[in-house]
Amino acid sequence: MDRGPIAEIDLNAIAHNLRTAKKITGTGTVIAVVKADGYGHGAVEVSRRLVKEGASYLAVAYTSEAIAMRRAGIKAPIIVLFDKNNIEDYLKYSLIPVVHDVKTAQRFSKEAKARKHSVNLHIKVDTGMGRLGFNMEDIEKEMSAIGKMNFISVKGLMSHFSDAALYDRSYALMQVDRFNKARNILNKKGIKQILCHMANSAAVMTLPESYFDAVRPGLMLYGYSPIQSSAISRQLSANLKPAMTVKTTILSIRRFKKGTPVSYGRTFITARESLIAVLPVGYADGYPRVLSNNADVIIRGKRAPVAGRICMDTTMADVTEIGDVSEGDEVILLGRQKNTAVTAFELAERAVTIPYEILTSLGNKSRRVYING
Ligand SMILES: *Cc1c(COP(=O)(O)O)cnc(C)c1O
Repeated sequence: MDRGPIAEIDLNAIAHNLRTAKKITGTGTVIAVVKADGYGHGAVEVSRRLVKEGASYLAVAYTSEAIAMRRAGIKAPIIVLFDKNNIEDYLKYSLIPVVHDVKTAQRFSKEAKARKHSVNLHIKVDTGMGRLGFNMEDIEKEMSAIGKMNFISVKGLMSHFSDAALYDRSYALMQVDRFNKARNILNKKGIKQILCHMANSAAVMTLPESYFDAVRPGLMLYGYSPIQSSAISRQLSANLKPAMTVKTTILSIRRFKKGTPVSYGRTFITARESLIAVLPVGYADGYPRVLSNNADVIIRGKRAPVAGRICMDTTMADVTEIGDVSEGDEVILLGRQKNTAVTAFELAERAVTIPYEILTSLGNKSRRVYING
């Protein structure tokens, strides 16, 4: 038996979500974020489909991710968001670096000169995220220095929102304002033909002021809105289709008398004669242990609560109410079966995290299969 659950990835859903992003923004230019192996969905397969459906660029965190995509035959432009090691790989594989300090720009210039091949790069400005990027007060001076360097050409300007869900709209608008200022500074220096991009999924869904020349969504392409609570967002996520279903099969069914403890620490004790299904999935498979006694799985279209502690390789579910279950039955940990769904949102809320973490941890530890490819 192979370890762990299966993550079934619906590529039609990914295509649908890209179309939704395009419809909302009306912009033709989408930079599809496929970092962390496509948020757990598999960067290569997802990227192939996204490019076929009209994504103009792909974005990853590290050059190693981009190289794997190039080796798989993906030729679309790839923006690398966070990597300043492996400068030579940017040239070797024609990757677009995001530069956030003068020293790195200098290194690109040197490497490009040695190879007699110029490098196109994007500049990142920190408009209020407090992570990477040029400080607003330094950008004028730093861009002057970069402007003098040979063999590099600034082709883009980007920034990132501090609030992934944009709950604080006024802060986001202040960031947009600063981004406009940064763009004007570049324009004044004669750097004009630049692709300006800022909008993550939340901004795509709610902040037209941030669309600029291209949008840069991640999460929504996989079928989730980062803003779940508001009515608007629920409406918007109705136009998205979750692409990932995580499933396994029942390993064993046990019949326990009333008063029987289940799993480590005896945190669950049967309150009646019970049927308990043992599932071959645990926290080592990315199913968070904090979901112990605190999540449902779906079996035969019905919810079954997790019973007791989630173990490294196994989890128990109380199937007493479902009754008619057999070993080998399909179990949905994440996704839909018939009219019942467990969303990444539901699991995230129960696990006190965000859907991003649920998708990456389950998706990147499961055996992935693709449908509608
Ligand atoms: C992850 C990331 C995105 C995408 O954000 P989502 O909230 O998933 O849409 C965009 N830009 C940068 C720089 C990122 O790191």
